[in-house]
Amino acid sequence: SDEFKMVLGALELYDKTVAHAMTRYEDIFMLPDTLNLSADMVTQILEMGYTRIPIYEKKGLDDDGGRINSKDRKNVIALLFVKDLALLDPADSHNVMKIASIYNHEVRRVLVDMPLRNMLEEFKRGEYHMALVERLVEQEDKDPIYELCGLITLEDIIEEIIQCEIIDE
Ligand code: ADP
Repeated sequence: SDEFKMVLGALELYDKTVAHAMTRYEDIFMLPDTLNLSADMVTQILEMGYTRIPIYEKKGLDDDGGRINSKDRKNVIALLFVKDLALLDPADSHNVMKIASIYNHEVRRVLVDMPLRNMLEEFKRGEYHMALVERLVEQEDKDPIYELCGLITLEDIIEEIIQCEIIDE
């Protein structure tokens, strides 16, 4: 039955890690902290359809002239909830980081090899519903660093459970 398959999907959460279910880094929609929100920009953000948007610290221009250094995107410093834009007057062209600072939603981080089962338990506690996924990168002669590699929400885990049902049929 479908129920049986979904139980199997849930059981697989013991073997799978966050890496299996996350949205990959390249596909994360995020915004630079320097961005000022024009009415057009707000419209575009709404059209993306995401509830929560990571804000990264933009450190400036890179060597090849003018392009945003893609490494900057790994440096997430805040979360913007789209609902926080509701009361703003777009004519004021608010800075995105200023808004994020007012609401100050906590940026939660987990390791990429965390078992999905544990991640699900975390989300069930209800304190947060999205986490940035990081991996540990060893460095010669230095302490290892954490590097952003994805983003995970409860929705991703539920999909992982249901997916098993689809593949099995
Ligand atoms: P939303 O309410 O924003 O759609 P969900 O928790 O329902 O978020 O997740 C739906 C899917 O969108 C998941 O696969 C999740 O990883 C992905 N997702 C959520 N926020 C973002 C974002 N800012 N950029 C890219 N993908 C995202």
